[in-house]
Amino acid sequence: MTDHHIDTTAETHVPAGRFAPSPSGRMHLGNIFTALISWLSARKSGGKWILRIEDLDPQRSKTEYARQIEDDLDWLGLDWDEGGTENKGPAAPYMQSQRDDFYAEALERIRSLGITYPCRCTRADIMATQAPHESDGRIIYSGTCRPAERPPFPAADTNAVGAVRLYVPGDEITFTDGVFGRQCVALDRHCGDFVIRRADGAWAYQLAVVVDDALMGVTEVVRGCDLLLSAAQQLYIYSLLGYPAPAYYHLPLICNSRGQRLSKRDEAMSMAELRRRFTAEEIIGKLASIARITNDCGPCSAKSLIEIFDWSAIPRQHSVVIDQNIFEG
Ligand code: GLU
Repeated sequence: MTDHHIDTTAETHVPAGRFAPSPSGRMHLGNIFTALISWLSARKSGGKWILRIEDLDPQRSKTEYARQIEDDLDWLGLDWDEGGTENKGPAAPYMQSQRDDFYAEALERIRSLGITYPCRCTRADIMATQAPHESDGRIIYSGTCRPAERPPFPAADTNAVGAVRLYVPGDEITFTDGVFGRQCVALDRHCGDFVIRRADGAWAYQLAVVVDDALMGVTEVVRGCDLLLSAAQQLYIYSLLGYPAPAYYHLPLICNSRGQRLSKRDEAMSMAELRRRFTAEEIIGKLASIARITNDCGPCSAKSLIEIFDWSAIPRQHSVVIDQNIFEG
């Protein structure tokens, strides 16, 4: 990969982490677990920490939720150097809803490679082509709208109706995740050709996240392991755009006592309820013990953990069930 397109802070090689919440409601313990670990890793390396608001979905996103996220991070002592609703910093704006031009430019560059095509399949069409063993929630596109010839495909009319779908080659994408180790993903078997702009004109997460992380100079991506396989899709886009890729660290997902991933329905683990019951130091202490950064779950500040933070402590598992005892009282 080359870095000839980068004209961003990445050139200065400042380590930069980021937290990229979707402002669709109040954060829960899982969200702040990601925020804390990402912040600690950035601070430990002397790097900056960016807050990017992922509000691509206009139906679910609200600026008031973004402000609430900022207030919660502030309260926890997790400060950011760039970004947020104030759009402060050299790569502004930091709200995805204001970054159309960057995504459009990237889309044109990818389109010019002759590896995209318009797709009119609906989700139902795609589901109907799934073999039963593939119905684990992942959708593998079978190529219904893909042109018959091999790429480069003939230039499609840029106004063609439908989504813009990106061809994926059969080669394996390999990378080393900082928690889960070496990963080999064949995109054709993992997801097939995937959408980078939806039929309704909305930008797909996979495209936006790469464009933003690259242009914001992000050098490490820390997030939940539900996005581990997405990293391969994103690395493919990095290679197409010629951007240097960040390091990836995927974290275990925090689950409730029924073993389900935390969601907005787990009200007891929402920041509204957690802030009512505990101090910021108490919550940080509990998160530190879940991350195995500390052995006990006593109160501590986020700052006090910077020195002892160590990636090798983070459990290399897909989920961690909350020990209810540490949230009592
Ligand atoms: N906006 C995504 C989320 O809230 C995070 C994506 C990422 O960190 O790459 O789940």
